Amino acid sequence: MALRLTFHGTRGSIPVPGPSTVRYGGNTPCLVVESSEHTDRLILDAGTGLRTVPLDADTAPETTILLSHTHWDHIQGLPLTLPTLVACGPLRIIGPRPARGTLRSVLEATMMPALFPVPFPAEGNGVIVEEWETGTHHIGPFTVQTYPTQHPAPTLGFAVSITGTQGGVIYLTDNELGMEPLSIWRTGLIEFVRDCDILVHDAMLEDANVSARRGWGHSSAAEAVRLAAEAGCKRLVLFHHDPGHDDTTLDRLLDQARALVAQMGVTLDVTLAIEATTLTQSGDT
Ligand SMILES: [Zn+2]
Repeated sequence: MALRLTFHGTRGSIPVPGPSTVRYGGNTPCLVVESSEHTDRLILDAGTGLRTVPLDADTAPETTILLSHTHWDHIQGLPLTLPTLVACGPLRIIGPRPARGTLRSVLEATMMPALFPVPFPAEGNGVIVEEWETGTHHIGPFTVQTYPTQHPAPTLGFAVSITGTQGGVIYLTDNELGMEPLSIWRTGLIEFVRDCDILVHDAMLEDANVSARRGWGHSSAAEAVRLAAEAGCKRLVLFHHDPGHDDTTLDRLLDQARALVAQMGVTLDVTLAIEATTLTQSGDT
């Protein structure tokens, strides 16, 4: 059994659909991790890409959504999609505890009457909301480990593997690698991503604006490349594209990232996250 990873939303901050973003996508973050048998799946983040996740009440497996955090771009697909998700069966929504309130209270607030016509389902009404801290968890055939990212809100990275197997997929979005380069946090992060098959990492910034955006909670492609190389990852997928970067700009940033890999003399496959595409743990696209 192996993992399959499908990108339904690759864009950070705000959806930017249109001709200039058609190749890499305009929807905000949403990924689906499935076992190769297609019987179980995890949804990572619930941006506007969530709307394109196949949902069929007759065939959809039990659904768990792992939220990295509750900033708008990671939850804005939920209100419109929740009724369909709940109709498919029990829904678990899991994420870190927010700085104020609870995960449930924050999600409820996004669907208050002034903002959305349908309220968030009451407790016991089809949606189970859980708060996770750093640790190891098991969901169906998956083992999920979490690690805190450097971001202005409490945010978790997720490492997903098939229980009992090596490697897997790591999802680290909204993570500022330049914040604490020599810290215990950084050492722990290297171990968290060590030898993974696929590392999906935030690469919202350009080298030219990294210092001006210090503290925003994001990274450049070069910073993500250095992390992946140091940890021995096989494949790096640059993610959370800046809404101001059109397809041509992203092509240029990918070229720069690959040039850095060549300059470093390491073996690392670097790609950009592309909406509506699937990667497999074994390296096929
Ligand atoms: Zn974000």
